[in-house]
Amino acid sequence: MNNVKKISEHFWVIEENGVRMFVFEGEKQAMVVDTGFGGLALKEIVAKLTSLPAMLVNTHTDKDHVGCNRDFGPVYMHPAEMDHYRRSLPEGCRMEDVRPLWEGDVIDLGRWKFEVILTPGHTPGSIMLLEREKRMLISGDSIQDGDIFMFGSGRNIQAFQESLRKMLKMSQAFDVIWPSHGSYPLKPDIIPGILTGTEELLAGKLSGQEPPWPMPCKRYRCGAAGFLYQF
Ligand SMILES: [Zn+2]
Repeated sequence: MNNVKKISEHFWVIEENGVRMFVFEGEKQAMVVDTGFGGLALKEIVAKLTSLPAMLVNTHTDKDHVGCNRDFGPVYMHPAEMDHYRRSLPEGCRMEDVRPLWEGDVIDLGRWKFEVILTPGHTPGSIMLLEREKRMLISGDSIQDGDIFMFGSGRNIQAFQESLRKMLKMSQAFDVIWPSHGSYPLKPDIIPGILTGTEELLAGKLSGQEPPWPMPCKRYRCGAAGFLYQF
């Protein structure tokens, strides 16, 4: 399992082609965060890490995060994300298996307690998961140093900026950020850089490059991250 890395007791990272998933083992239950592109036998991998039943949470539902959703039971996401999920429902998945997670809900695994924070912009119902006692944040795609998809249906850069401001205000509560892409772990001091980058982008101060593969957008790099965006 060379795409699995144990970070600490009861905490693993799983990598698949540039996207990252997380597994946390609680006392009676485990939690899987996102399911990748669908190219891994994720359920079997998780079963080797923990014998506890694993609940599935999606930080958001772009296709690189939901590929193995079909192999789990209910899938938890913010209700604002459900339409985005329905529009490109992965094969073998059903809306009937979707369950809501609301802002402020606490996923209590025993040992780990994750608070749900709604951070729209990258997608309508993107969430982050904050472990206050362990001072760590699971940030999905919205805080990372790779290229952040900000073009096309469901994305809104003003909402994204508001979410970054919200996380900046909360940044006293965490020391370590675990993003879905790019390098990891990150520190909270990346947040102002990404926010400034969005301001420079909208002010026309970043130069657009061709995207890494053909897409109807340009790639804009600031110091902290990149944005795939179309004016
Ligand atoms: Zn992603």
